[in-house]
Amino acid sequence: MGYARALYIPFDHLHRNYGVLKEADPQQDRILFVESARMRSGRNWHPERLFFLISSARHFVEELRDEGFEVDYIKAPTTRDGISGLLKKFPNLTLHATKQSSFKLQRTLEEVGANFVENDFFLTPRALFEEWAARQKSYLMENFYREQRKRLNVLMKNGKPVGGAWNFDKENRLPPPKEYSWPEYQGFDRDEIDNEVATDLNMVPTRTWATTRKGALKQLSYFIDKHFAQFGPYEDAMALDSWSLHHSVISPYINNGLLHPGEVLSAALEAFESGTIPIESAEGFIRQIIGWREYINGMYWHLGEEYRNRNGLNAIRPLLPLFTSSDKTEMNCVRSIVHDIEERAWVHHIPRLMVLSNLALITGTNPQQFLDWMRERFIDASDWVMVPNVIGMGVHADGGQMMTKPYAAGGAYISRMSHYCKGCVYDPKLRVGEKACPFTTLYWDFLDRNREIFSKNHRMFQQINGLKRLSDLPELRERAKEVLAGLDLGEI
Ligand code: SF4
Repeated sequence: MGYARALYIPFDHLHRNYGVLKEADPQQDRILFVESARMRSGRNWHPERLFFLISSARHFVEELRDEGFEVDYIKAPTTRDGISGLLKKFPNLTLHATKQSSFKLQRTLEEVGANFVENDFFLTPRALFEEWAARQKSYLMENFYREQRKRLNVLMKNGKPVGGAWNFDKENRLPPPKEYSWPEYQGFDRDEIDNEVATDLNMVPTRTWATTRKGALKQLSYFIDKHFAQFGPYEDAMALDSWSLHHSVISPYINNGLLHPGEVLSAALEAFESGTIPIESAEGFIRQIIGWREYINGMYWHLGEEYRNRNGLNAIRPLLPLFTSSDKTEMNCVRSIVHDIEERAWVHHIPRLMVLSNLALITGTNPQQFLDWMRERFIDASDWVMVPNVIGMGVHADGGQMMTKPYAAGGAYISRMSHYCKGCVYDPKLRVGEKACPFTTLYWDFLDRNREIFSKNHRMFQQINGLKRLSDLPELRERAKEVLAGLDLGEI
């Protein structure tokens, strides 16, 4: 058949109704996927992540073939090689793609001469975000979120927020309950394509992640039915008796295209309007979808490609051994969280921010090494997600361009919000001595080490001032040195 166009589909645009596939026609268009060797073996990718991305793409290819499309699924050394190979074989084809979701892939597509349609895998066009960013003195997510609520007319009544407030943070910061029965997480059975991919990758996947749109939709319904009502109050809690709590666990599917954020938003609003979902849960969840997710993507493009290289606090410590092996630490919180990541490549936003990134921040870990680790280990770690989240929010490497103050915290926060401290060899209340919690010691040491930089930041006044009240500062500095040396050796 004489096709006119080749439509290139990356592994994070797996949706028939968006991007370049929206107008695709089996009579005119052949579809191209490239599984590059670099994607598979270029870095230390988590096997669950590779399995999920590749198997989802291969399932999607079969769906397109069932619809009558000619699909080329090419294995090549690089994406560029795969695309160029196809264009050489069929010189009459013109190449078309959606604007890509990462700087690198966008450049590759531009270099091979693709024609682009707008990227509508988000709810906010890039130009609209730029227009918002140009009006801001500081890029407060809360301001962006409120504009989104108004613009999209979500949870609004007569120009006012439904429930009388823009957020319900007070209601939504409960620690994990002592005795509670979390609804069981549903697993997914593996099919022939899954097994083929697993054999290819020489791994055995868990049943955690769906690899089809049908499975992703099933997970969305499961969340709405079983978890959504209680999502808000426990959204920041960290529990030992449940790895997913009441979280939706759908970020991988929104990030690879199996679900569109608009579909998730509609499902959430429909459930809320049916009267079964309290406002604090509805607002907390919808904030993640129309607020945080869109804001982070907007900031990724706004801050530019070089942003990932920032290191404003001059943090040079190599990545700690505990990140690559959970048995390299005695800290109960970190060990449990890294173990969960080893199992299934996912933990929710609070362990990511307040334990892992916090640890990287207060130990002075090199931001780029930590960023690489986050990119490689998480199932949903798209470039656009991780660069602003790590460089700006997690380790404050951008000199405060994105967040006005660093998310540094001692053991008290983790103790309040989790089950971890009870079973730990360290004591979150102690900052000196052998039993001192490394988070508590290093939190103060971090402020002390960066005292000069942060004393210029009025939002840090209270924290820096707190240093003056520490009568044991010399002892704390000594303990911090021991802790850092122990962490470097994987012995703390
Ligand atoms: Fe983590 Fe410190 Fe609590 Fe131990 S005491 S679990 S290291 S916060």
